Amino acid sequence: MSDCNAPVEIKSPHDPALMELCSQLHDLSGGLDFQDVTGAYPWPQKQLELCARYGVFRWFLNPEYGGLGWSDHDLTLGYLALSAACQTTTFIITQRTGACRRIALSGNDFARKELIPALLDGSQFSTVGISHLTTSRRHLGQPVLRAEQTDSGFVLNGFSPWVTGAIHADTIVVGAELEDGRQLLIVVPTDSPGVTTERPADLVALSGSHTGKVSLKNVYVDQQWLLAGPIENVMSEGIGARTGGLQTSTLAIGLSGAAIDFILKEGDKRPDLLSPARALSEERETLREILLQSASGAESCGTEELRQRCNSLVLRSTQAALSAAKGMGFVAGHPVGRWCREALFFMVWSCPQPVVNAQICQLAGIATE
Ligand SMILES: Cc1cc2nc3c(=O)[nH]c(=O)nc-3n(C[C@H](O)[C@H](O)[C@H](O)COP(=O)(O)OP(=O)(O)OC[C@H]3O[C@@H](n4cnc5c(N)ncnc54)[C@H](O)[C@@H]3O)c2cc1C
Repeated sequence: MSDCNAPVEIKSPHDPALMELCSQLHDLSGGLDFQDVTGAYPWPQKQLELCARYGVFRWFLNPEYGGLGWSDHDLTLGYLALSAACQTTTFIITQRTGACRRIALSGNDFARKELIPALLDGSQFSTVGISHLTTSRRHLGQPVLRAEQTDSGFVLNGFSPWVTGAIHADTIVVGAELEDGRQLLIVVPTDSPGVTTERPADLVALSGSHTGKVSLKNVYVDQQWLLAGPIENVMSEGIGARTGGLQTSTLAIGLSGAAIDFILKEGDKRPDLLSPARALSEERETLREILLQSASGAESCGTEELRQRCNSLVLRSTQAALSAAKGMGFVAGHPVGRWCREALFFMVWSCPQPVVNAQICQLAGIATE
């Protein structure tokens, strides 16, 4: 008899094992939308264990770090499939991967050796708290997470406003700023004295991502955990790069795919749905092609323009799916209601100010200023 817990390696995005994994993630996705008796939303532990078993966490790192070294093109295909099956699990993987890649590419051998093997096999969890260096709290005069350099490391004070899966994390890659404006990325072990992971926020969608604030009070972190900096604009240099990028658009197209496939299927019984479903499907195909070309280095449309177009598609396609599902789609537990809420996330997730501005102008029906 085959061992249902035996590791399965998905060799490429065309491997049938990926569809097998996605089908399991899809079946489990509805359960993430309901609070338990304590009022908490479930964390997708089983889903993440499945991803570990299918080797998903190894896709993103090169063989020299123990990964499978998938190309950006193949990673995009992988994310498209995962995100059509379960947005919450896929979103958590993006944050987890953000931490893994920053650790692996940092040049810090100590951090790599200590953390990467357990992150790749799924026995440890790491995440990122970096948005306050890019898209969160940027209008405030003061940095929300301050660092002070000592002889042997750094003392951190303040908070990281958004950290996905913080309460499950063994380590968090955080961004912090020195008084002179230079910034750093550093691994904070969550059992360090002074780290408080707050109760995850109840969200409009993706509450199962257990995203919440992490407060740091006089947290001493040894120099050996430093990944980058201190330098100015650490997020636009070397390992800090890749924030936002194509992955937000990828997950938006993945979710659009789920919604459009739903309308197409309904169209089998209701021919009046076929024409709009095909129009949405063609738009998705166009954006998917642009995305895959960009991932392969042949960019035909700027990242921000692509993001706007993907945001627009995910909002329209999920709402079209709701219209097609009618009142039944508005009942809690029906996937299209969840997809509509999940689509709203793309309006706020790692959204650069020009995309926010363009989005608001589009909703107001005026040209972007
Ligand atoms: C579910 C979820 C999960 C996330 N997970 C992570 C994660 O794991 N790691 C991570 O690093 N980040 C994460 N983020 C952060 C995300 O990428 C964005 O940085 C975040 O959504 C930006 O929103 P904000 O409210 O912090 O923005 P802010 O710009 O800080 O806005 C906050 C408030 O400030 C006010 N404001 C905004 N701009 C101005 C202005 N110019 N003048 C005056 N007032 C202003 C507004 O009232 C606004 O509501 C997550 C976000 C969400 C929603």
